[in-house]
Amino acid sequence: MLKLKAIMRGKTTTDYIKGLVERDQPEPTSSKGYCFQCHEEHELIPNTVTESMLFRIGDEQKEIKVTEFPAQVCSKCGNTTISVGLAAEVESIVEEIVSERINRPAAMPLPEKVSFNTLLYGEAIA
Ligand SMILES: [Zn+2]
Repeated sequence: MLKLKAIMRGKTTTDYIKGLVERDQPEPTSSKGYCFQCHEEHELIPNTVTESMLFRIGDEQKEIKVTEFPAQVCSKCGNTTISVGLAAEVESIVEEIVSERINRPAAMPLPEKVSFNTLLYGEAIA
């Protein structure tokens, strides 16, 4: 999970991530950042979204939703952005979970959704 935490500490999400990593910290404040929708700098407000991750298992397409995924909302246009690097890292972690579960002698059912914080803190997934 260190890589995930490192990506999360990237420059665009630093303030927000501090709030997530130190659970006791107060809510992160908004920051100025580039909005790809407006093509301008605007106040970006920390928020969370549910991200769908799709996996192909045999002939089946499976979807796992990652809830509480960190995002930033543009104060002007309302466009929500998430870190591409963070999404890729989360996807690879979820992929590991999927392959571990389907490769067990007694295959475990896949979770329909998993919270971002569960992945971040390496907690057990229901
Ligand atoms: Zn915008």
